[in-house]
This record gives sequence, structure tokens and C-alpha cells, in this order.
Amino acid sequence: MLFKKLLDILFPIECLGCGQNDILLCSDCLNSIKINQPDHFQNEIIDQVHVCTSFHNALLRKLIHFYKYNYMESLAEDLSKILINYYSQIDYKLNEVTIIPVPLHSKKLLVRCFNQADLIAQNFCQHFGYQFKNDLIQRIKNTKQQAQLNKAERIQNLKNSFKILDKKFVQNRDFIIIDDIYTTGSTVLEMAKILKKYGAQKIWCLVIAKN
Ligand SMILES: [Zn+2]
Repeated sequence: MLFKKLLDILFPIECLGCGQNDILLCSDCLNSIKINQPDHFQNEIIDQVHVCTSFHNALLRKLIHFYKYNYMESLAEDLSKILINYYSQIDYKLNEVTIIPVPLHSKKLLVRCFNQADLIAQNFCQHFGYQFKNDLIQRIKNTKQQAQLNKAERIQNLKNSFKILDKKFVQNRDFIIIDDIYTTGSTVLEMAKILKKYGAQKIWCLVIAKN
């Protein structure tokens, strides 16, 4: 694409970590991001929440920011490696699990052009051979930014914000919900509630980092 070639000339590609040419993230910089030891906590009905790396790492925060807001889709592969490396260490994994990325509302998708959770979840599924389903849950309410709200407002804000498109599919299945950053956990919890309502069994959540 001519536009892309022009961008390459005007803004040469450099590693976001060390500045090395022609690569967005070199393997040394990617490998410098320390993967957490397997551990988890529970969030009400979410059986296990797994956090893959620390949000204190400045490079990680930069990667997520560039990935999300500067439309750097190619970083999806690098970020999904963090999920893959973390998850590979878990001895007891869910069998025949279905992977669901946290959906974006269609209006947000229009602005951002891609769903950041979707791409990393796809790569994760390809690696482990899991079933990927990004059309099971739809976001039907364009919610306000959770960060500015208190706990009660957050719950109200998210109420009825998701819809299951294939209720039969959910019955007796295990799920892993994937997102980039875990902040309050109320979004994934709301997804878990609707999945449980239609008969889901185990629900895990896997995120790159926790803010
Ligand atoms: Zn580098």
C-alpha cells in the first residue's frame, strides 16, 4: 500500500524498547518482559483470574498503549506471546475450553478499527488449538469509562451491557475470557454472570496485566 510505504519513510520503524531499526519490538526487548509464575485469584463467580505479567514494567505499558491507541495491530502477536508463555506454565489447564475476547461496542470498534482483545485471543487459540468464539457475546450498551466511576456506579453502568447470541452453545461449557488489562474486573464479571446464567461451567479470565 502506497500510504504505508510513505509512512515507513516518514516514520521509520524502530523497536519500542531499544530503538533498533526495522522492527517494532525486538526479541531481546520482548524477552525482557518478565512472565509471572502461575497464580490466580477469584472474582466472585470467576473461578480463576490469571495475570501474565506486571503492569509496573514501563515497556509493557508502552506496548499496550501503542497497540491500542496507535493502531499497531502487528504488536498483537508479541502481546499474545506473553499470554502463551504464561499459560504454558500452568500444569492444570482446562480441557476443551472456549476462548472469548472481551467484546467492544460497535461504536468503539468504529473508532479504534480493531478489538485489541480479539487479536491476542485469536493468536492464543491458534497456539493451543482452542475454540475461538468472538460472536458469542455482544456488547449492546456503549458504556462509560469505568475508571471515573465508583463501585455502585460501575455495576449500574455495566448492567445489561452484554447479550448472548447463542444461548444453547453456553450450556455445560468451560470458558476463558481474554482481555489486555484487568482494572476493576467488573466487565469480565458481568460477562461471567451472563455466561453462568445460561449454564456455563468453569469460567477463567486471562489478562496480560492488572492495573
Ligand atoms: Zn529492542
